[in-house]
Amino acid sequence: MSISKKDVVAILSADGDQIPFFMEKACHQRSNNTVTYSKNVFLPISNVCRNDCGYCTFRQNPQDPKTNLLMYPEEVMKIIGHGHDRGCREALFTFGEHADENPLVLEALKKVGHETILDYLYFLCEETLNKTNLLPHSNLGILEKSELKMLKEVNASMGLMLETTSERIMKTVAHQHSPGKDPKKRIKTIKNAGKLKIPFTTGLLIGIGETVEERAEALLEIRKIQDKQGHIQEIIIQNFCSKPGIAMEDHPEPSLADMIRTVAAARILFPDCGVQVPPNLNLEVAQIFLLTGTDDWGGISPLTPDHVNPEAPWPELKELKSLTEDLGFKLRERLPVYDKFINSQYLSDVVLENI
Ligand code: SF4
Repeated sequence: MSISKKDVVAILSADGDQIPFFMEKACHQRSNNTVTYSKNVFLPISNVCRNDCGYCTFRQNPQDPKTNLLMYPEEVMKIIGHGHDRGCREALFTFGEHADENPLVLEALKKVGHETILDYLYFLCEETLNKTNLLPHSNLGILEKSELKMLKEVNASMGLMLETTSERIMKTVAHQHSPGKDPKKRIKTIKNAGKLKIPFTTGLLIGIGETVEERAEALLEIRKIQDKQGHIQEIIIQNFCSKPGIAMEDHPEPSLADMIRTVAAARILFPDCGVQVPPNLNLEVAQIFLLTGTDDWGGISPLTPDHVNPEAPWPELKELKSLTEDLGFKLRERLPVYDKFINSQYLSDVVLENI
């Protein structure tokens, strides 16, 4: 697809009646009138992270006795078992980037018989596939190609938010203590996942200090990767949320208009991918995003909270159904891997068998 930076900046800077014009244009890009979601359980395997982003409430101090250094196998499999009983199909595994660089996490890993957190994750994914109907989707920060290759064997899809391509933000409160947020490293991970044919979810974090030009560059970078690799199933447009106690507590949140413009640009640029705005962060205005072309609600859990945004509970499914159908769209459950990637090129035998 060929769309210039100037065109994307024009959408991202629209005002007045240009905004409904682009909303309508974006909405017409929808491939059908279906809105999907994945019924999941959210498993924060460790809240330790080597990064320290200015907007994060997930990361916990490893020295604090209340910190979740490591969820133990019994605890993980108990939640997954409950998910199985409730008809969930996605096990969303996440932990802070390179959590096992911390000696306390390493010690906890040794207690459960594993040398690294990725070996432990592999074991948990295998258990999930062997014993339940759930399919693993892992979201772990930047990874080496060999690590992605290993995890592909036991994952239906994986994810990493690009967030931004702005090197400048590496020097601001948002990312100054987060080496893993270096855009070059994140782009490399997403490209490597493409080379390995791993169905992938990525996206942007809006309102962390990026300019409109930088936002356009980030969207176009993902487009460039997708044109070459074709493995991206979904683009998430997530809004920065100010929360008490974070370093960016006083930083302004993006306006609704900013979110609409960005969703419109994403929909127009990515007719071949799902576009999602997290519904729990935007429930009151979620219908506006459906009218701008979003076609997915992401992972919704009947059992576990959003551990990244614990203050924002998932909406009830009946509420999502009602606000989706109110606009004439159909709500449909999907797997953590989009239908077009369900084949042996993208999935291992064990994942395909489970599906
Ligand atoms: S990388 Fe993720 S978990 Fe780690 S500090 Fe940043 S937002 Fe938090």
